[in-house]
Amino acid sequence: MNEVEARRDALVTLCRDLIRIPTLNPPGRNYLEICEMLGARLRESGWQVELIRAEGSPGDSDRWPRWNMVARYEGGRPGDCVHFNSHHDVVEVGHGWTVDPFEGVERDGRVYGRGACDMKGGLAASVIAAEAFIAAHPEFSGAIEISATADEETGGYGGVAYLAERGYFDPAKVQHVIIPEPLNKDRICLGHRGVWWAEIETKGRIAHGSMPFLGDSAIRHMGAVLEEIEATLYPALASKHTAMPVVPEGARQSTMNINSIHGGEREPEEGSTGLPAPCVADRCRIVIDRRFLIEEKIEDVKAEVGALLERVKADRPGFDYELRELFEVIPSMTDEDAPVVRSTAAAIEKVLGRMPDYVVSPGTYDQKHIDRIGRLKNCIAYGPGILDLAHQPDEWVGVQDMVDSAGVMALVLEELLA
Ligand SMILES: [Zn+2]
Repeated sequence: MNEVEARRDALVTLCRDLIRIPTLNPPGRNYLEICEMLGARLRESGWQVELIRAEGSPGDSDRWPRWNMVARYEGGRPGDCVHFNSHHDVVEVGHGWTVDPFEGVERDGRVYGRGACDMKGGLAASVIAAEAFIAAHPEFSGAIEISATADEETGGYGGVAYLAERGYFDPAKVQHVIIPEPLNKDRICLGHRGVWWAEIETKGRIAHGSMPFLGDSAIRHMGAVLEEIEATLYPALASKHTAMPVVPEGARQSTMNINSIHGGEREPEEGSTGLPAPCVADRCRIVIDRRFLIEEKIEDVKAEVGALLERVKADRPGFDYELRELFEVIPSMTDEDAPVVRSTAAAIEKVLGRMPDYVVSPGTYDQKHIDRIGRLKNCIAYGPGILDLAHQPDEWVGVQDMVDSAGVMALVLEELLA
């Protein structure tokens, strides 16, 4: 669309301006600043802008308030509402950068910076797409909304979940949602796998390390759990395949990571030169991160681990454990026939001259809250950037990719609202 092409420089400038506000999460820095910056820009061109603090959400405090921005632009006639949702938070910088992560360096057709790809490039593209569409069709039907929300990187509870609980994603108010996460400009992401996190603790009895037979080692008990996981659970997970088009392909099955293991004496503080004390470990804990498929029921996922622990218990004298559930997300997948999917596919074909790939994300993103809390099913992730670059040093987004995906978003608006 010509109106998008004419805004190429504005798109790059907006992306750089967004990168220059370091919205690091944790702890949740500069959320108000980025919401105010975007809000001021949109208000100037006639949008109604709301800034909403997710008071009382995890991490929210007067020092680190969880601010969100929601902007709405009404067309001249009644019709559907298309909502673009981007998270404004970015993850820590980490090591290995060759450019300033918060300068918004533009070089060789790329914009570099923490959050360039995940997902300030996508946020900028959606703003430019909406502005270009409105310029071309001032009398459109329905409404456009743009939100910039907090805390996606830490679960989204101070962001999309908070807004969804307050009706911002009520299907009576919003009919189509596009989340411009960096899934590449020619791919439509229909949803994500499910998640179940749990902590398993084995119990023991402390004793002197020179007489371990007087105690009972929780670490050895955990060893038995890990052996059982290797022998039975991993093969079982590898045999569960999905029809979900998950990328990368290795994630097209059930998976589980063991996030951590802790047992016995605490790790010495850095710089400590003392020797450890000889004790039998009376506790050992692991945290498991199980990712499951739309074909699986969460009750079965939990029961599988429960049965494994019971098997170990039946075999092993003195074995005792506790299982604490930490977190769960049900898988979400939008139908390929849903209106927002069809419109985006048609727009990709027009702009890029090829049919899109349909993909599903191995990990979750804010679609979970829009689906589960908002009860809004007509939702996808679509945006510029290469997913593998997210959270990496020298993260970047391609200028042409931003322009192309803004063109796709503007055409989606044309199809749904013009
Ligand atoms: Zn993201």
